[in-house]
Amino acid sequence: MNLTKRILIAMALAVVLGSITQVLLSDDTLNSTLRYLLDDVLANGLFFVIGKIFVASLKVLVVPLVFVSLVCGVCHLKDQSSLGLLSLKTIGLYIITTGLAISLALFLATLFEPGSGVSLQTEASYKAPAETSLKQVFINIFPTNPIAAMAEGKMLQVIVFAVLIGLAIGRAGTAGDRIGATFNDWNEVLMKLVTLLMSLAPYGVFALLFSLFAKQGLGTIGDLAIYMLTVVSALAVHAFVVYPLILKTLTGLSPLTFLKKMRNTQLFAFSTASSNATLPITLRTVEQRLGADNRVASFAVPLGATINMDGTAIMQGVATVFIAQAFALDLALTDYLLVIVTAMLASIGTAGVPGVGLVTLALVLQQVGLPVEGIALIIGVDRILDMIRTAVNVTGDAMVSVTVAHSEGALDKAVFDDAAAGDVKA
Ligand code: ASP
Repeated sequence: MNLTKRILIAMALAVVLGSITQVLLSDDTLNSTLRYLLDDVLANGLFFVIGKIFVASLKVLVVPLVFVSLVCGVCHLKDQSSLGLLSLKTIGLYIITTGLAISLALFLATLFEPGSGVSLQTEASYKAPAETSLKQVFINIFPTNPIAAMAEGKMLQVIVFAVLIGLAIGRAGTAGDRIGATFNDWNEVLMKLVTLLMSLAPYGVFALLFSLFAKQGLGTIGDLAIYMLTVVSALAVHAFVVYPLILKTLTGLSPLTFLKKMRNTQLFAFSTASSNATLPITLRTVEQRLGADNRVASFAVPLGATINMDGTAIMQGVATVFIAQAFALDLALTDYLLVIVTAMLASIGTAGVPGVGLVTLALVLQQVGLPVEGIALIIGVDRILDMIRTAVNVTGDAMVSVTVAHSEGALDKAVFDDAAAGDVKA
């Protein structure tokens, strides 16, 4: 059985068994031994631990892999000056896709009116985090201490440092050749580790989802059904219509093949709700399954995992309209534009980790003068939406990376077309 099927079966089992556990646990008359077994031993014990270890082993690869792979990519650029154009294209496409994503979300949200008639009674409350100024966001891209940047997982800083080292290696003659070769070897070793980890995914995914669903079940959806439906529809249109159209128009490549090969990566993103933790898998998929050369992928993928969050932007667009409608406040056209710009900026400099989209939503709401407490209305269903939008986030990263690689003549069409390329043997 292939890996995708095994992960899917693990997911389905986890959701069903986890939800049954949640229902049992919420019954006050449940036998105490059974409660202990289900809660302390399984959901909060064994599976919680396995899930945490699974995510940790993905995350531990992120910084070394981004650094090594990007140094490799940059030092092998034949023409270093092409890096400028490469970054412009990549960032440009990331911005355009995010802009399209929010516009789509705003359009669907005004059509579906998810917030009209919503009752404002909620027990949850929400406090906005302190805001970082835009100036600071840009200054923060540049590291003062590479080790600190790596230790804190500041991805943009790690990217800047890796690019600088890669550029220097490329210009350092034979010394550069020696170090460059070592980085190449390290890159292969780390990629091997990613492959090994992937083959363990079904167990990790089961553990993660079981303990999640055993604890929170599907939540009370109530008033939020239309909100969720709007977010999910916008995510689906973006992933299955907008991306395929862009890919087909700009590269002529088959969107079906692309989506098929993205499945595993999307499942990782869904289970971990973190584009950052999924980064090693995305990078591997883009290089080994979709055929993008390391010199483009090593730059575009990590950059995307940090600055490109189309799924998140979609949630923010719908949430803004939802909250405005729930509080019966009107948004003017300029507010919509402000939402587009702020949501785009908000995703730059915030790492792709679970739930960060809600935090930056506060920023968006403040910009258009909507009550930040509105976030409390949607917090209850955010986790499941987070999982779905993270899958869209990583799909966007991969689509842009493949498109840029194609335009740079750095895409191996034979690998892209070969269904078995880079497949993980289960
Ligand atoms: N969890 C998302 C990601 O990692 C970010 C978010 O929308 O909260 O891409």
